[in-house]
Amino acid sequence: MLDSKPMKSTHDSSGAAPTLVDGGAGYQLPVFPFVTPPELAGERSRRYPVVIVGGGLVGLTLACDLATRGVAAVVLDEDDTVGVRGASSRGMCYAQKSLEVFDRLGIYERLLEKGVKWSVGRTLSEGDELYAFDAQLDCVSAQAPFLNLQQFYVEWFLVDRIAELGLTDLRWKSRVTGAVRHDSHVVLQIETPEGAYSIEADWVIDATGANSPLRDYFGMQINPERGTDRWCICDVRFSKQLPAERWTWVAAPFNEGRAVWQHPMADGVWRLDYQMAPDCDPQRVSHPDVAHERVSAHLGKDVEFEMVWIGPWHYRNQMLEHFRLGRVLFIGDAAHAMSPFGARGGNSGIQDADNLGWKLALVVNANASGSLLDSYCSERRAAASENIAVTKRTARFLAPQSEAERLLRDAVLSLACHYPFARALVNTGRLSVPNRYPAVTGIDGAGESLQNVPVKTPHRHTTLARYSLEQGTRLLALYFPLSPTDATADHLRAHQHKWPLLRFAVCAPGADLDDGGALSEPPGTLVLVRPDLYTAGRLQAPTVKTLEHMVATSLTQSLESSS
Ligand SMILES: Cc1cc2nc3c(=O)[nH]c(=O)nc-3n(C[C@H](O)[C@H](O)[C@H](O)COP(=O)(O)OP(=O)(O)OC[C@H]3O[C@@H](n4cnc5c(N)ncnc54)[C@H](O)[C@@H]3O)c2cc1C
Repeated sequence: MLDSKPMKSTHDSSGAAPTLVDGGAGYQLPVFPFVTPPELAGERSRRYPVVIVGGGLVGLTLACDLATRGVAAVVLDEDDTVGVRGASSRGMCYAQKSLEVFDRLGIYERLLEKGVKWSVGRTLSEGDELYAFDAQLDCVSAQAPFLNLQQFYVEWFLVDRIAELGLTDLRWKSRVTGAVRHDSHVVLQIETPEGAYSIEADWVIDATGANSPLRDYFGMQINPERGTDRWCICDVRFSKQLPAERWTWVAAPFNEGRAVWQHPMADGVWRLDYQMAPDCDPQRVSHPDVAHERVSAHLGKDVEFEMVWIGPWHYRNQMLEHFRLGRVLFIGDAAHAMSPFGARGGNSGIQDADNLGWKLALVVNANASGSLLDSYCSERRAAASENIAVTKRTARFLAPQSEAERLLRDAVLSLACHYPFARALVNTGRLSVPNRYPAVTGIDGAGESLQNVPVKTPHRHTTLARYSLEQGTRLLALYFPLSPTDATADHLRAHQHKWPLLRFAVCAPGADLDDGGALSEPPGTLVLVRPDLYTAGRLQAPTVKTLEHMVATSLTQSLESSS
């Protein structure tokens, strides 16, 4: 769909100046230069601690996370730009947990400046509004509930930030064409414009997306389940004033009674996404004249608009049986793919990177054994499984599979206009939320995601994400004292030498939800917070022994599922 041709040079903070190319009628994507790697420049080859294959949304998030923790990774990408060539407009909706991650990585402000914050969603059918929600009402995080921004911008800002951090070796035009696993390392074959070479890595991360070639190299089965539902995106710029809200029609009168999504994005562009007939011809429905007519019916005949990008798409559900194969870990779409309903694809990949980053940093720096990485697999596989189940239910609601399902769906829609109970059954996509992780044997309160709320100690007033960032890859033990004279924290602190990977903080007594939404626990509670802002557990009346057990569990076998 994209016919890319060089347009003009631009500056970039990476130092390796990209060129801008026309990524369709209205998108300009950077092109990053190929730089001769040391292996092709005659230097002796060496073994790298971490090689990430795939510099898409998830691979870049992990590289950036590792760089903030002082781990230098090599990233190999077969392309030389952001976004996937030919599909430059894919993901656009980022949920709060992702925004909290991006705050910690240092790109949130830039995303905020470029993107569109929103919290109100409306669901319509025919001409009626069925219901509306405002996610801001339940939000206590420092970050917005949702932000819309074309995916390639997020990737672009990550590339810039990675360059700023200065640790990562980002290699463009470097396609991995083969991989061999050994007990102690993995060997990768790479093709570049200047020839082929191979490198060794202690750990390889497969972030090559839904069509991962690495899975094939290692003979891994994924068994995709392909949906028959067909959609067509039209990214459009127009002058008509519309609120910065997410609108979804289950049955739009201007789309032959099929579903439609309407989202604002950056640069004054709107994502209009139309459900098509299952037997449609993708070439025909995405033809500019046909798409033009559809958008005109949607916006009104008198509204002038500019078509920025058109792309037909369909989806599949797939998930690997194991997210780890020895020294290879699978993240993002390479590990799991699902329909985009509820924006769970990219957001869950970002959470994969968030979960894996701190664990890998500990393992690479010999602060934890490789078995800690098994908890990445058990936690994120459970999350992927839940996300696939949730998105499948939405897909079924939007595209009923039988006449009986359609009758039921239509009954729900007509009831939802009048009765609140039926609104809960209208399913146009359950928006991405952080998944709860499986319980841990012998530990209370593990596996809950904490929002990025204020944390108040007698000397500091900051947010949880900033506090965690300052701790690097250490766990944070937050103690909520029984009284101003409670000596428990002092007693525990006297044994701090036992736990080099833990930092104590005593929260200000009386800090509670009425106090600006600050983190709050019952007095006498210690909550152990992981670097990904998940709880590692809670202790009432903590002792040296119980804390020791909880820290050891978090850093060894970690959150091994008990279920
Ligand atoms: C229509 C649509 C709408 C979506 N909307 C949303 C949304 O609103 N929010 C959301 O969160 N998600 C959304 N998603 C999902 C999201 O786009 C994906 O989940 C996300 O792109 C996955 O990122 P990834 O890094 O795992 O894979 P990819 O983005 O596919 O990146 C893979 C990278 O690997 C590289 N690569 C591949 N093979 C090789 C090789 N052999 N050697 C070297 N490099 C290689 C590629 O060049 C690419 O850069 C949407 C998806 C679609 C299709």
